[in-house]
Amino acid sequence: MEEETTLQSMTEGVDMMEIAEEVVGEDVGLDEEDEEEMTNELLYEEEVIQEEDVVDRGGEGDCDDKENAESDVADTEFLEDENGVMMEITRRRISQDREGNCYCAKDRNLNIAELLCASCNRWFHESCIGYQLGKLVPFMTNYVFMCKNCSPTGLESFRRSQAQFSQMCFTVLANLTQYAVKDGSNRRLFSKDKDIIPFLEMHWDALTTTTRRVTSSWHSTVLKTLTKDVGPLYIIDEVLDDPLGPYFGLASSDLTTIKPNYDAMIKTGHLKVNDPSSAGAGAALRGRGSKRRNVMEGAIVSQGTIAKKTRGDVFSSKAFHGYPPDHPYNKDNFRYLLAEPDPNAPFRQEFDESSDGAGKPIPGFLYRVLVPCSVLLALHDRAPQLKISDDRLSVTGDKGYSMVRATHGVNRGAWYFEATITDLPEGGATRLGFGQAQANLQGPLGYDKFGYSWRSRYGTAFHVAKGKSFSKGGYGLGDVIGLLIVLPEKNNKNALIPDSFKDKPLVRFKSHLYYEEKDGAEASKKDDAVLPIHQSSMIIGFKNGVCQGAAFQNISEGTYYPTISLYRNTVVRVNFGPEPWMKPDTEIDYKMISEKAEQAIVEQTVADLVFLTEFDGKLTLDNYIHTQS
Ligand SMILES: [Zn+2]
Ligand SMILES: [Zn+2]
Repeated sequence: MEEETTLQSMTEGVDMMEIAEEVVGEDVGLDEEDEEEMTNELLYEEEVIQEEDVVDRGGEGDCDDKENAESDVADTEFLEDENGVMMEITRRRISQDREGNCYCAKDRNLNIAELLCASCNRWFHESCIGYQLGKLVPFMTNYVFMCKNCSPTGLESFRRSQAQFSQMCFTVLANLTQYAVKDGSNRRLFSKDKDIIPFLEMHWDALTTTTRRVTSSWHSTVLKTLTKDVGPLYIIDEVLDDPLGPYFGLASSDLTTIKPNYDAMIKTGHLKVNDPSSAGAGAALRGRGSKRRNVMEGAIVSQGTIAKKTRGDVFSSKAFHGYPPDHPYNKDNFRYLLAEPDPNAPFRQEFDESSDGAGKPIPGFLYRVLVPCSVLLALHDRAPQLKISDDRLSVTGDKGYSMVRATHGVNRGAWYFEATITDLPEGGATRLGFGQAQANLQGPLGYDKFGYSWRSRYGTAFHVAKGKSFSKGGYGLGDVIGLLIVLPEKNNKNALIPDSFKDKPLVRFKSHLYYEEKDGAEASKKDDAVLPIHQSSMIIGFKNGVCQGAAFQNISEGTYYPTISLYRNTVVRVNFGPEPWMKPDTEIDYKMISEKAEQAIVEQTVADLVFLTEFDGKLTLDNYIHTQS
């Protein structure tokens, strides 16, 4: 017994040295380049679709004319050094889906930019799309867009193509026509010099990915482009002696049919259509607002085959959880939570239609934190050096101890999850258990007061860096480790609903917006205060279904996340449910942690509605509240 204690403290010493090195030697967060991108305007890849007739004319166009005009300057000017772009989409059978447009199911709004999904053929409002699109104008046609419901990753995708003058002119006239509808003048004809050219100048960046022209020689190209398609696309009014003439307008007054010509892109091979039967996986896993929500089926495997199967990549699948693969990780004591537009927020329409909003920070209340539909290892709450598998249920360690939390935490009730080591290199180890959000990610779980862990080596249980003998012999490769946390329902001072993030600032990273929140690790390091205790709370350990007893009793108050900490390149796979790999022998009426997902969606929705109600009448687009110091 005495000998064992000595061994433990020796290995503990080694661990700590490794950690110290890690903290000093590694940049913990985003690299500088990434950081820059947080603040910079999004830059678009210059993608070119070698498609001449990209404006869908709704069947009214005259294709023969187009073919004959191939050598025209206006249409060939941008064709130099083009590369054909191949996009892949999965086309849904529209008839099987619900009617209507957008995630919000509201009508089209021609006063704002809307994008057509190449797959389901529905229109989506710019402000309902979470993907950061950059500058758009209504009636643009030079893009390929796929909505969250259709995308196999659960993430929207958007790519611009380089618009040609013919497309740009068409978009400009559509906008001028709609302005005239809005201001009641109902003009149909617009001056090339007074209306069309100024609009092109003002919205150039939104209309095309091509850099602005230095000289104004393109003005005559515009005239040529418009004149060429008088008849099929445009009407013209040539008033003699009018210095602002000639005047142009759209031949058709129906603006709702203006859209990218996806069919033509498919025909020319620039857009590839996949078999619709393979589309389902992504649509099943969405957060709030999804009409096709589903709970992920956990992989149920019998003990003993887990390690082998995992190494053979049986589990590997596409990332279909709706999170971007380049999700930012914790940096400088901040964590980042993926945000999505909130259809319930006030001033949505005003924000959508205000043109001066570009470049200004987006008020946090217009968005909401994305709550995933399944419990996974968190991308937003992990030590950056850890590698998370595509399905986000396996994690690989790196050098010294560091950890990852699950996406969901619990603060009342009895909850269970399992984990198993699928690869254990020489000297590797794990500490599995439950940790609070403030537990330092760059260390082993149980190093500070915010975590409770059970170590593979010797089966020691750790809290506040103190080890105690718990489950003799420890655990190793292939053992199914079950952890059951029991928190009181009664006299529990923890909040019933989580925080709303709507008062937090939104930051842009790559193509998405995130709420920025202090992770509390720094403040809690200096804080020596002893946390209040949850009476009659406990954490019970199970090894291959067999109860090892309570590792901890009367643990601190707080919200606890399943947490995995790893030493060296150890690989751990978790099972959050819906079924345990090995049924634990216990009388306690527990829930698998996966059940927390549905609950969290309800709780977060309530929290966001409470926020909007509480600040009803106080939220404005110019002067929104911003409480983060
Ligand atoms: Zn919408
Ligand atoms: Zn779609």
